[in-house]
Amino acid sequence: MIALFVLRTKGDVKYFTIHSFDKSNLVKHCFTTRCGGVSQGEWESMNLRINCGDKRENILKNYEIISETIGVNVKSLVLSKQIHKTDIVDVDKNDCGNGLFYDNKFDSADALVTNQKGVTLVTFYADCVPVFLLDTKREVLALIHSGWRGTYDEITPKTIKHMIDKYNSNPNDIIAAIGPCIRQCHFQVGEDIAKLFAQKYTKKIVIQSSGKFYIDLPGCINMQLTSMGVVPDNITDAMLCTYCNPELFYSHRRDSDKRGTMAAIAALV
Ligand SMILES: [Zn+2]
Repeated sequence: MIALFVLRTKGDVKYFTIHSFDKSNLVKHCFTTRCGGVSQGEWESMNLRINCGDKRENILKNYEIISETIGVNVKSLVLSKQIHKTDIVDVDKNDCGNGLFYDNKFDSADALVTNQKGVTLVTFYADCVPVFLLDTKREVLALIHSGWRGTYDEITPKTIKHMIDKYNSNPNDIIAAIGPCIRQCHFQVGEDIAKLFAQKYTKKIVIQSSGKFYIDLPGCINMQLTSMGVVPDNITDAMLCTYCNPELFYSHRRDSDKRGTMAAIAALV
């Protein structure tokens, strides 16, 4: 496992790219930060969260800024519908604009997959774990929203299985990345959830400190990736905690609902 997310700056915009994805020359992509947008107050400033009380004109402007920054057409964006389930939705050109320029047509879409060039996947985060997958041989791209429920319910292994079944992917050809998320330093959970994770994975996933329980979601996802056959050297982990870095990230645990939302954005080119 390698920690190679690169923080990039373009004007006021700060965003991360994944070194292995850059090197593939197959995608345009980023994980956004809160920096470089036009939203104000609790949404300051690169808020990409629809229907949160922030001005729609500001949210749209933010989408335009980040799209231009990474070189994708804002009209090609396809927004997810994240409800902490494990439904995986294949998207194509007919879905461009979904959730941004017309009402979101998905009922449940915590994972988006495409093999079409120029279709830009967008998934949202403010602590939950972003997972990027790219089959570099078949040219299949997936973005996954994996909170604790999605992680426990194995949305990442299910997405890889979907790539194998539907697109004939070989896990050996998949490069993967785990983006900034709430890490074990701050992800306190109840004893019941800690026990579920310790039973399903290993006790190493749970740390107990002063009677409190902390779980390592990226650690679980890393185990899931390798158990599906993804090569450890092909997995990148940002190793960044959203709670620990208020200047870069919104965090639901830290700021509750007074916050914006970051996004993973990626398109095959
Ligand atoms: Zn932390």
